[in-house]
Amino acid sequence: MSDDSILKDEGYSALDQGRVEAAVREFLLAIGEDPNREGLLETPGRVARACEEIFGGMQEDPSLHLLKQFNEPGNDNMVIVRDIPFNSTCEHHLLPFTGKAHIATGASRVFPSSRAASRATPVVRSCRNA
Ligand SMILES: [Zn+2]
Repeated sequence: MSDDSILKDEGYSALDQGRVEAAVREFLLAIGEDPNREGLLETPGRVARACEEIFGGMQEDPSLHLLKQFNEPGNDNMVIVRDIPFNSTCEHHLLPFTGKAHIATGASRVFPSSRAASRATPVVRSCRNA
C-alpha cells in the first residue's frame, strides 16, 4: 500500500509548512521574543519540519491499515498486541504526551502484529483529547 493510497480524500488538508513557519514567527513575537535573534532564525523552519512528523497522521485513514486480514479457523482466542509505544499531542494545549497502546481483536479477524502498530500510528500522529 503506497502512502498516497492512505491519504484521506476529504476532511484534513495537507500540512502547510509556510503557514506553520509564519505562525511560529508570530508566536515568537507574541511572547516577546525577537524571531530575528540568531538562535531563533531557523526555529520556524525547524518547527514546521517537526510538524510533518508530529501531525503526519492527520492525513491518513487508520482503518486502511487493517484491510489485510486473514482467518484462523478453530482459534477462539483473543489476539492482543501490547505495549505499542506512541507519542501524541494534546488537542487542548498542543502539548506532547507519551504512552503505550494495547490492541485486542477476536481471532476471527487476525491481522499481522505489525499492522496493529501501523493502525495506532496515524491515530496518535494528530491532536488527541488527552
Ligand atoms: Zn492538554
